[in-house]
Amino acid sequence: MVTDNYRTVREQVDACALRCGRNPEEITLIAVSKTKPLSDIEELIQAGVREFGENKVQELCEKWENVSQPVHFHLIGHLQTNKVKYIVDKACMIHSVDSLRLAKEIQKEAAKKQVTVEILIEVNVAEEESKFGLSVDEVLPLVQEISGYPNLHVNGLMTIAPFVEDPEENRNYFRALKQLSLDIKEKNIDNIDMNVLSMGMTNDYLVAIEEGATMVRVGTAIFGTRNYALG
Ligand SMILES: *Cc1c(COP(=O)(O)O)cnc(C)c1O
Repeated sequence: MVTDNYRTVREQVDACALRCGRNPEEITLIAVSKTKPLSDIEELIQAGVREFGENKVQELCEKWENVSQPVHFHLIGHLQTNKVKYIVDKACMIHSVDSLRLAKEIQKEAAKKQVTVEILIEVNVAEEESKFGLSVDEVLPLVQEISGYPNLHVNGLMTIAPFVEDPEENRNYFRALKQLSLDIKEKNIDNIDMNVLSMGMTNDYLVAIEEGATMVRVGTAIFGTRNYALG
């Protein structure tokens, strides 16, 4: 079941990319498996899927330890500094770096474990009070500081758009994130790449792709609705 869903979403992603003149291969579909059992992940692994997304450090670590073969787990949820040490050598990318304090802590733990951590800067483009992430103006000063951190590598930006009925309402936020990435790229800052734009979820991933997403994070459309009471 989840395999069929995954394939349907992947076909939508590819078709959308082609419609807007993009190469489908430049778009990574992350299967957001939070709250879902390992058996669902295993089914997708059998089908060749390698990119999974998790929100919580403990859940990511448990799944990371128990999968039948190594796959990529992206940490997409908020990260508390006291949990950084558990995750630096397990997440293939941390999408949710939203403060200098957190970046410092990741640098410290990554140096201890002698790894380089791939990160994205989370931007609260829509300025929603309920959401984590930097405001647009705060991003450049943060990446300028992180540029000097030897064990961190900034790959680009991430945003979580508002939950809306009509995905068109989020187009301007996706466009603004893309523009911000171009503005930063233009500055050619050492150790700072802007090749990744992580944006778009079940409800709005097609609009996000039209606006330049290179990673879409899709949960519900692949795994069905989540039941947090049971999870
Ligand atoms: C849960 C989650 C997703 C996936 O959401 P769906 O609407 O189920 O596709 C994507 N990104 C983040 C950060 C999430 O927490």
